[in-house]
Amino acid sequence: MTRKKTLLMVMLLVFSLLMISCSGNAGEIVQESADASTASVKYANQYIDLHLHLDGAITLDIAKSLAKMQNIDLPAESDEELEKLLTVPADCKSLNDFLKCFDLPLSLMQTPEGMSEAVRLVSDNIKNQGVVYAELRFAPQSHTQKGMTQEDAILAALDGLKKTDLKANLILCCMRGEGNEEKNQETLELAKKYLVEDGGVVALDLAGAEALYPTENYRELFAKASEYGVPFTIHAGEAAGADSVALAVEYGAKRIGHGVRSYEKPEVIQLLKEKGVFLEMCPTSNRQTHAIHDMSSYPLIDYLNQGIKVTLNTDDMGIEGTTLADEYRYMEQEFHLTAEQEKILLNNAIDGAFTSDEVKRELRNLLGV
Ligand SMILES: [Zn+2]
Repeated sequence: MTRKKTLLMVMLLVFSLLMISCSGNAGEIVQESADASTASVKYANQYIDLHLHLDGAITLDIAKSLAKMQNIDLPAESDEELEKLLTVPADCKSLNDFLKCFDLPLSLMQTPEGMSEAVRLVSDNIKNQGVVYAELRFAPQSHTQKGMTQEDAILAALDGLKKTDLKANLILCCMRGEGNEEKNQETLELAKKYLVEDGGVVALDLAGAEALYPTENYRELFAKASEYGVPFTIHAGEAAGADSVALAVEYGAKRIGHGVRSYEKPEVIQLLKEKGVFLEMCPTSNRQTHAIHDMSSYPLIDYLNQGIKVTLNTDDMGIEGTTLADEYRYMEQEFHLTAEQEKILLNNAIDGAFTSDEVKRELRNLLGV
């Protein structure tokens, strides 16, 4: 009897201790998950950049480093002068003015060494800023001024990708313009040749002066891309209106670069929703290129509320003097972007990334979304 009582008391004690221990653990788990969700949203410190131009991401330090390794004399006497050449002028009038800022960065990426090192330095730089996955884009035809072929430029970029710890892929840009049809064709063929699901070239893009060279001109190019099974995004609805976005969707674009002016036509908003097309929005860039006249009516939150798959990106962080962290803070401060909305933006970026399901799973685990 006594032994049974003792046994019973011991069992009760053990049970009580277990309960206390379990409830303690449960409490901790709840606390931990609350902390994790807070850390991964409203004050997010990990990001995904799906719209980042390599030549637009050359900061002052990267430019100096690239110039030094290639013995290139920079056309500036001081850091201040160099900064002026690399960043968008305060009186920038339009996208066309903005595009002129790319001349100096591009001049530093005309050799295999310069190209590879640029990819490595830009990747390392954004990794240090909290980016965990990025799709770096560049136009191979813009890197042939000193004798590299488009293919050389791509191979050099792939080499740079191997030298960084950042999880990243490449998007090849065709360029809007005149007389470069063959060059765009070549870019497409190379995209097809080097296309992978992860660790290299994952998609095609169309960049350049949208107002001067309309999306309509590129119907055949993207028909062929679709035929080849090369996924693509198209810059549209930035310097031109909603019709440009509608055309890009019609061509089969999975994502739209910017698409900020989609609101101009309700039927285009509807189209984006129906087709589940992702928008790669870049607020600072849109402010600087005057893609939208009144930034107070910037439509990102409105698009999110309407169920459009919006993502938040930098576009040209070097030229604009921004980071992806800055873009999140800007949206929080000026547009009251909420924690829940940040979570949706990150989720959209994972869903819209041109990469494998396995990488997407890894990113989801990493970001806790
Ligand atoms: Zn862009």
